[in-house]
Parts: sequence; C-alpha cells; structure tokens
Amino acid sequence: LASRDFHPDDTVIEIKGVKIGGEHLAIMGGPCAVETPEQIDEIARLVKAAGGQVLRGGAFKPRTGPYSFQGVGVEGLKMMADAGRKHGLLTITEVMTPEYVDICAEYADILQVGTRNMQNFDLLRKLGTIQTPVLLKRGFSATYDEFLNAAEYILAGGNPNVMLCERGIRTFETYTRNTLDLAAIPVLQSLSHLPVISDPSHGTGRRELVEPMAKASVAAGANGLIIEMHTDPDNSMTGDGVQSLFPDQFANLLKQLEQLGNLV
Ligand code: PEP
Ligand code: MN
Repeated sequence: LASRDFHPDDTVIEIKGVKIGGEHLAIMGGPCAVETPEQIDEIARLVKAAGGQVLRGGAFKPRTGPYSFQGVGVEGLKMMADAGRKHGLLTITEVMTPEYVDICAEYADILQVGTRNMQNFDLLRKLGTIQTPVLLKRGFSATYDEFLNAAEYILAGGNPNVMLCERGIRTFETYTRNTLDLAAIPVLQSLSHLPVISDPSHGTGRRELVEPMAKASVAAGANGLIIEMHTDPDNSMTGDGVQSLFPDQFANLLKQLEQLGNLV
C-alpha cells in the first residue's frame, strides 16, 4: 500500500485545511519537550509568527537513559492542545505505547512515532486502527525497505494518513549526532507516494547545521520540515537544546525558504 506502483499520485494529507504532501511544504516547529504552559504558548506564538503550520513538542519523551527527564505526560498534551488552538496551529506529539494512542489522538492532530519505535509493531498496528495522521520516523539503523514495511503496518490496518520522516541514521561519524540521509528523500518519494518530511535537528544534532540541511532537504524535494526551536535552548529540559534553533534563526530560515519560493 505504501508503494507508488499501487498509488501513482502523491498522497496529500489534509488536516483542518492544511495540506501536507504534493506541492506543499509543511513547516513543523517547536521544542523537543513540552515543559510549561508558558513555554509552549510562547513558542507556539513564534512558530505561527514565522509562518509555520504545525507545533511540535513531546509530552512523552523516549530517553536513552531511564534517569533522564521523561516528559510531563498527559498534562503536556493539554498544554500543547491549548497553545495550538490559541495560535491557530496544528499539533504533533510522540506516542510511545499502544495504550497511549487514544489519549494522544484526542489532544494532537498528528502522532509521531520516534526512531526508537519504528519497529514497535504493536504500536504500528494500533495506529492502523485510527484515522489520525501519523509521522513515522525512520529507525536510525533501518533500511528504506524496513522503513516502508513499518509504514505498511499502519496502512494495512486501515489508516492511509502516513508521513515518512528522515531524521538521520547512525554511521561511523561522531561529529554529528546522526547522519541526515538526504538521498532518502528522493528515494522514498520514488518508491512511495507518501509525503516525506525531513528532520535536520535530530539529523545533525548541531544548531549551526540545521539551516543548511533544512535548505538541502527542500532542494532534494522534501514535503516538509520538522525543526526544534526553543526560546531558551541552553536551559531546555532535554539534551536537545544544542540542536534547537533560537526563535530568530527559525524565523530567518522560513523567510529564506519563502524567498526561494518554497513556501506556498
Ligand atoms: C524528537 O522528535 O524529539 C525525537 C525524540 O526524535 P527521534 O525519535 O527522531 O530521536
Ligand atoms: Mn528532540
């Protein structure tokens, strides 16, 4: 079902009037993690002012270590839904277990499956039973075929609203946190009709690389970008402050994309 052979035209997912896929470039921005109502409200205002359409933020965080901050949970879902509604943005948040799919779908417009859960088949199957759009991140060691098979689980269950997200893979290089696989964008678009979103934040792990890799992703044909932005990255509650843009950098990037004719 994910294959272009089955579905020659690009899939365009429409959520509350926002189109993702085809000729549209979707911009998703926000913090790694939802922290407080004030934090997410202010960031939502800045994402909207810069021209973004979707507010990102994790309420449940898949941390590498069990003693790290795990997210604020259901309260975070509510904070994000309020901020999105107030500022006229769609919202996307990560869901980690099948049990939390329904509550996350109640509050968010798009559900994110993180890189560590790309092959959490129980989660994928559960996501196939609803119609809420899913942004599926590529596992950091997954081949294109494995990635598309993971998407297939959701599609096969009856949910056609799947976006693929390239977020960097693990290579021998340690300077960057991950290696953003730019070739994945045109390859996935040739193999599949699903929208392909690029995440240059996790794909590099370094703030100064986000802008060039965001532009490169758009040049490679990405249907959207998901970018971490924080008003106080040095004091953010996850380690992802080092890859988070300052609000003026985020706004400047969107302005440049607009000038290049990429924002419609
Ligand atoms: C995130 O988006 O904050 C995140 C945890 O992403 P990934 O699953 O790509 O590491
Ligand atoms: Mn993050």
